[in-house]
Amino acid sequence: MGKKLTKRSEDYSKWYNELVVQADLAENSAVRGCMVIKPYGYAIWEKMQAELDRMFKETGHENAYFPLFVPKSLFEAEEKNAEGFAKECAVVTHYRLKTDPEDSSKLIVDPNAKLEEELIVRPTSEAIIWNTYKGWIQSYRDLPLLINQWANVVRWEMRTRLFLRTAEFLWQEGHTAHATKDEALQEAELMNNVYAEFAENFLAVPVIKGVKTESERFAGADETYCIEALMQDGKALQAGTSHFLGQNFAKAFDVKFTSNQGKQEHVWATSWGVSTRLMGALIMTHSDDQGLVLPPNLAPFQVVIVPIYKSQEQLDAISQVAKELVQDLKLHGVSVKFDNRDTHKPGWKFNEYELKGVPLRIGIGPKDLEKRTVELARRDTLTKEFVAKETVVDTVITLLKEIQENLYNKARDYRDSHITTVDNFEDFKETLDTKGGFISAHWDGTTETEDKIKEITKATIRCIPLNAKNEEGICVYSGKKSLRRVLFAKAY
Ligand code: AMP
Repeated sequence: MGKKLTKRSEDYSKWYNELVVQADLAENSAVRGCMVIKPYGYAIWEKMQAELDRMFKETGHENAYFPLFVPKSLFEAEEKNAEGFAKECAVVTHYRLKTDPEDSSKLIVDPNAKLEEELIVRPTSEAIIWNTYKGWIQSYRDLPLLINQWANVVRWEMRTRLFLRTAEFLWQEGHTAHATKDEALQEAELMNNVYAEFAENFLAVPVIKGVKTESERFAGADETYCIEALMQDGKALQAGTSHFLGQNFAKAFDVKFTSNQGKQEHVWATSWGVSTRLMGALIMTHSDDQGLVLPPNLAPFQVVIVPIYKSQEQLDAISQVAKELVQDLKLHGVSVKFDNRDTHKPGWKFNEYELKGVPLRIGIGPKDLEKRTVELARRDTLTKEFVAKETVVDTVITLLKEIQENLYNKARDYRDSHITTVDNFEDFKETLDTKGGFISAHWDGTTETEDKIKEITKATIRCIPLNAKNEEGICVYSGKKSLRRVLFAKAY
């Protein structure tokens, strides 16, 4: 067992880092800014992938795979996209090493192996994909093209944090091509909705759907839809983005199609992605000072059974009951682990599974065998109850549902009570300093004001909510006219 976790109230970011490592989710690696995702963390990511993949396929998308490298000339083609990502690119310039003539134990880059054209390690794949789509799209019959790829990307971030912002991260990126602007816009919004649904039903993370302001928009997009979540420390987290790319990439890569009226037109595009950052969202939304708290829908195993015994005889008797229970639970679609290792004491195991956020723990001891009961402990509320053996399966099924809902409701209540409406800049600053969370305020719509507010307060416009009402007012900073409120927050 590791040390006790730092409390959230003492140092939230230290708590987060310790939790990620101690719950065996991930650790820092020998490569600056890049993490090792450990089996338990990866198992959660795989569950996320499986569900998202199912949702993508349900909405008509197929998976494909494109190269890791983008030739520089292709990368440059869409200027805004290239400019936006230029500062974060890893670039391959050579393809060979050789023994250092001055120290034979060392390798150096072979100067004779310089690439004719440099290769960019993809920070995002629009360029390589749209260069490929040129060969795939000729006629309106080839559209829509609905493709997703599961991949890793590299963005040379200077300040990194496990899962939330790493230099290499895992994600999926959807890249679709459409015959009309409307269709592409609908697709971008549809996928943002898919992300929202996933976040709420699986991560149990409530999100606000919105669009980004021009300065927060994806480089090369005409509109960026997003889902924004609120973490327990009052900071916002961009949990997913879906971009309407207009005809920008079609023009840059000359992708045209013959319409059903026989006209040559540029194709309309979208791209959308969520990353391993979702792991960060999951951890920071629900976990507590005891460790990780996992929603049942994403827990690698939903139930753990721990035997409490002194003798081999007792263990044998408990194992028989436990194994029957495992079978019964599995039959009902519940994932369960029976931890009968005799290398660790029950108390150690209890702590371990608490730290790892397993939703339900079942303890079975000799007394339980006599009374035909088990002890059932909930991770979310840390409460325990004795349950008759005959009703365990039903109770587990009910509780798993209840825990999933409880986590969502708790997070939503926290989020809702941390959206503060303010009408002047003093209140704006004070709310940010004392309470944090989202601030709903009027903004004059200019990048200048947005930048100024960011400079003074570090808060950015997280989004213009899709459900924002038209409401005339005056900008909290400039006093100029505003047509609706937007959401500001300090963000990860
Ligand atoms: P983007 O392509 O910039 O719209 O980002 C797509 C998704 O990846 C969004 O959900 C981002 O929040 C997430 N993301 C962006 N940068 C990183 C990073 N360095 N580490 C992890 N996730 C990221």
